[in-house]
Amino acid sequence: MKIYNTLTRRKEEFEPITPGKVGIYVCGPTVYDFIHIGNARPMIVFDTLRRYLEHKGYEVNYVTNFTDIDDKIINRSIEEGIPASEVSEKYIAECKKDMEALNVRPATVHPQATKEIPEMLEMVQTLIDKGHAYEKNGTVYFKVRSFKPYGKLSHKNIDDLESGHRAEAHALKVSGEDEKEDSLDFVLWKPKKEGEPFWKSPWSEGRPGWHLECSCMSKKYIGETLDIHAGGEDLIFPHHENEIAQSEAASGAEFARYWMHNAFLRINGDKMSKSLGNFFTVRDICKQYDPQVVRFFMLSAQYRTPLNFSKELVEDSAKGLERILNGAEKLKSIEEKKNGRFITDAEQKILEEEVPKFIERFDEAMDDDLNTSDAISIIFELIRFTNANTDEKSSSDFAGCLYRVLFELCDKVLGIHIEKKADEIDSSEVERIEALIAERTAAKKEKNFARADEIRAQLLEEGIILEDTREGVKWKKA
Ligand code: AMP
Ligand code: ZN
Repeated sequence: MKIYNTLTRRKEEFEPITPGKVGIYVCGPTVYDFIHIGNARPMIVFDTLRRYLEHKGYEVNYVTNFTDIDDKIINRSIEEGIPASEVSEKYIAECKKDMEALNVRPATVHPQATKEIPEMLEMVQTLIDKGHAYEKNGTVYFKVRSFKPYGKLSHKNIDDLESGHRAEAHALKVSGEDEKEDSLDFVLWKPKKEGEPFWKSPWSEGRPGWHLECSCMSKKYIGETLDIHAGGEDLIFPHHENEIAQSEAASGAEFARYWMHNAFLRINGDKMSKSLGNFFTVRDICKQYDPQVVRFFMLSAQYRTPLNFSKELVEDSAKGLERILNGAEKLKSIEEKKNGRFITDAEQKILEEEVPKFIERFDEAMDDDLNTSDAISIIFELIRFTNANTDEKSSSDFAGCLYRVLFELCDKVLGIHIEKKADEIDSSEVERIEALIAERTAAKKEKNFARADEIRAQLLEEGIILEDTREGVKWKKA
């Protein structure tokens, strides 16, 4: 697989440090409010990366944090008159609900900054001991000029940065950071203000800087060198540049081998963001559209291409997804009807010669820096192909094989459910319901109507409605 690496500005062949295993760290949201659909882009994109790597046989350790202490959270806690921890816990829970709706799988670990303070104190101390950090009036700063490669990720020249910062001298004075030895230096630890949450440290009662948490948590849950570090492109500078400086200065080892950054979700050409006020929360959008449509829309563009959010484009995605779901439904219904036909030579030939080409082309698209846009086009081609090559007379096994290919690519890898009716039910539950339906069909055939009615009543009690149609029994949640 080739990945575009922000560090080298080239697409590079992906090679993990340990064969067969991949450690990925993705910067997560600051939890002071509901997430907006711009925040959902990295969640969906990198969840798809994880799924694709698993499809290729890798064991993936996927770590993504929640920033649960920050000025915005503290401001919110003051506004609402509740502790900061209550604000963050509430929005972590809400964010997890949104992720579940968007079929973003839970990470291997979701670390939270406030639960990892000892590791952060240790890293700050290491940086001080190695001469990369210093303390002034309870604040600890990272000494940027002590880390020679500073700027390597964002491709910025340290002297240009310095002159930019001098122009901001007034802003530094306002924030109280004019005591820094160098205007480039950034905060590792800052003292509390009156009434703010704090943790004890050798330098002051205070809290960690934002950049520090990702350096510490990625090291703890993945290791000193990450295979892939990802996030939105706004994080390249200063957040990721500072993470590199802290981690590499502390460990001496390379921090991350591949850096992936998603482009923005835009609205009328502007970045969707809280500060511009031009955002829609995931919660609100999912009231208007099926969350699967939102996920499908998000993957309709390759992740480094800006994507404009508009009603028209989301509705196009809804129509596209409908075509895929209809194609899947057709295959499923042929498979389930079990018309008693054996797989024919022609069908066998298609499975052996034609279908692998679609899988290969899908993988080629995904191998090309996760080109989900091309991968979706190939799924559309596959649907056209299965629609043209199946009908009532196709064998159940043939339709079943085609269905499973579609399921692997669309449902498992892209995370887009292909079954219309079973979207809220897990697969073991689907199997159980379908076994009961099969039993009911068999009972009816044997004229055991009492048992057939009993099964219908039992499922109805569980909120499952059965419909006898010409294509067989269909079911849905009430
Ligand atoms: P934040 O809570 O602002 O730190 O954002 C969490 C994640 O969402 C980061 O990876 C950001 O880069 C990303 N993000 C924020 N806004 C957008 C947007 N409009 N489009 C794409 N990604 C975004
Ligand atoms: Zn981060």
